[in-house]
Order: sequence, then C-alpha cells, then structure tokens
Amino acid sequence: MDIKILTDYEKQSIGERQPLPERYLRLSDDELDARIAAAKATLGKRCVILGHHYQRDEVIKFADFIGDSLKLSRAAASRTEADYIVFCGVHFMAESADILRAPHQKVVLPDLAAGCSMADMAAEDQLEICWRELEQMGVRTDALENGRAGIIPVTYINSSAAIKAFVGAHGGIVCTSTNAKAIMTWAWERGDKILMLPDQHLGRNTAFKMGVPLEEMVVWDPNEIYGGLDAEQAKAARLLLWKGHCSVHTRFTVPQIEAFRKKYPEGRVVAHPECTLDVVRASDESGSTEYIINTVKASPPGTIWAVATEVHLVNRLTAEVPDKTIVTLDPFGCLCSTMFRVSPNHLLWILEGLVEGNIYNQITVPEPTRSNARLALDRMLAL
Ligand code: SF4
Repeated sequence: MDIKILTDYEKQSIGERQPLPERYLRLSDDELDARIAAAKATLGKRCVILGHHYQRDEVIKFADFIGDSLKLSRAAASRTEADYIVFCGVHFMAESADILRAPHQKVVLPDLAAGCSMADMAAEDQLEICWRELEQMGVRTDALENGRAGIIPVTYINSSAAIKAFVGAHGGIVCTSTNAKAIMTWAWERGDKILMLPDQHLGRNTAFKMGVPLEEMVVWDPNEIYGGLDAEQAKAARLLLWKGHCSVHTRFTVPQIEAFRKKYPEGRVVAHPECTLDVVRASDESGSTEYIINTVKASPPGTIWAVATEVHLVNRLTAEVPDKTIVTLDPFGCLCSTMFRVSPNHLLWILEGLVEGNIYNQITVPEPTRSNARLALDRMLAL
C-alpha cells in the first residue's frame, strides 16, 4: 500500500496543525533527511529517538528504538545517558515515558496535535462520575468484608496520565495488549468486578478468550446517565467495559476477512485485539503488535497473511519478510492519522531546537497525577 499521495498532500498543510517556523516548511525530502541526520549526530548519546510501530517511514528511519509504547518507555528509561527522549508516537505514550523516565531526562513530543482518539474517549471527570454512579447503583467500590475489592479499575496503557492516576489511586492497574490476560487475572484475584477502560474491545476480546461469557460483561457508556445501565445490570456484571474504541482497528470487518479467504483460501488472518470481537473470532490469530510481528515472522515461507492493524506496521513487515505474502486486511489500509501528524519537519524542528539549547513541546506530567499514575504502572511492571 503506497501512501505517498497522502504524504504529498500532507506536505502542503503541514504547518496548519502545530504551527512550525517558516524555515521548516517546504523543505525537500533530501534536505530534511540530511538535516535530521546532522542534528541527531550532533546530539549523539544526549538524545534518544523512539519510534512507535505505527509511525511513518520518513520518521521511523531515525529511531534508535522501535516498538510498542511500553517497550519504548522502558527503552528510554534504560538509556540514562540521554538527557532528551524524543517520542515519535502519540501524547499518552510521551506521558508514560515522562512518568517512567530518569529524573534528569526530558520527554518531547514532536507534534502536540498527535493525540489518540481512543485515549480521548475517557476523561478524568467522566471516570469520577462513573465511580460515584456505580456506588449509587449499589456496586461496592471499597473493600468488601472478605478483604477483596468490590471493583478494580484496569486501564489500557492507551489512556491519559489522569486516567492512569485515578486507577492507581483506587487500587487499579495498567495493562497493555500483550499482558491484558495476566492483568485481568490479577484483578479478578483481588476483586469481584473489573472496570476496564478505555477500550471495550481489548477488554471483551481478552475476557472472552479467558472463558468469561458475554452475558457477564456490560458496556458503560460515559455519555449516558448511570452509564446507560440499570442497577441490576451493573451489580450482576463481572466486567464493565468503558465505551471506547480505536478508530483505526474498528475499521476492520468480517466481510473483509471473507473476501480475503475467497481470494486466498489457504491464507491466514491475524488481528489486533483492538478490533471488534467478531473480527477477532473470524481471524486465525490475534494479539498485540509484537505478537503479530513475531507470529508472521515465525510462520513457514510462502505463508499468506492478512494483517488487521495499522498500515505502516503492515508495510514494514511486508518488506522485512519477503518470503511471505502479506496484505493489509482493509484494502484501503488503516492509517493512524494522529500518529501520522509527527512529520519529518516536526522532528527536524525539535532536534535542531535541542542542538541550539531550546526544548520545544516538552511533556510534563504534574504531581500528584504523576505519582498516582506511576502506582498503576508499577503494579503492572511488578507482575
Ligand atoms: S492506532 Fe488507535 S489506539 Fe493506537 S494511537 Fe492510533 S488511534 Fe490510538
């Protein structure tokens, strides 16, 4: 899938999102490459550049580490000689890096408009209202007489620091798509119910794989009074799923899988767990970005794969494993448009700024959000 046309179009409006100084507009690809490489070389070990799997090629080629958000945050924290962590990803990832960084490190996000539509679906005040309304409906949010918790909040790492902080302060934990099963097991060992946010699909897919019947799950809609539930539904549920989703992964459909299977009857489908349950059930495999990459790479030569995740990951995987045929499940290619906002122009502006001693776009999580969010992250990291 060639996304050059999109890139060409985007170049014309690049300064309209986060404004860039005039001298960073209308640069040729060659000049961008040369100046980014020069600034990176000048900064040397003082700067580490992180690139998420979904990041565009023109940016990721300069990354020191490529991975999912947690792997990148850990990589940054391990590079203690680096004063600057340039996170080529989206806002919640830079926040996590800021929470996990060494004291002297500073985290920078090249374009502040690079958010995540899923993370934006759970706001701190909505979660506070949810917690209060659950109590009003008779769901115990405190410790029960048997010492267990009435409900444990679990948040996907794709959430704001404020959501992680609420979860941390209420005995909860962060999960990733890699460890969601282990984290939900941990939570159910300690509490009767789980409130899983912000991605209903990761929660549903993981619990369903663990054998939890769909009847024991309900959706909490933060835009409805009492989440759109009655008290009996809330009290009977073992899993309350926040009504959030990824606008990229929910574009994959079962008819796309049927079309792929018709074309390649021997082909296999691997889907990310942010896809809907029907897509995951119709796929042969499902798992995190790292799982997808490892599964495809480990498959026998000649295997044909349809991959249901962001198109930049799929394109790079295609190039890395030429002995397999890999197609994106959505023929139009699902693009994370917010990740795409981190352009080479923004990266150059950030790096040349650091060379000149100017830190632009620093991401700082304030206290007490930072400490409470760290609690939730540390509970996960301790597992
Ligand atoms: S792919 Fe979805 S969940 Fe991931 S950063 Fe983009 S919008 Fe957010």
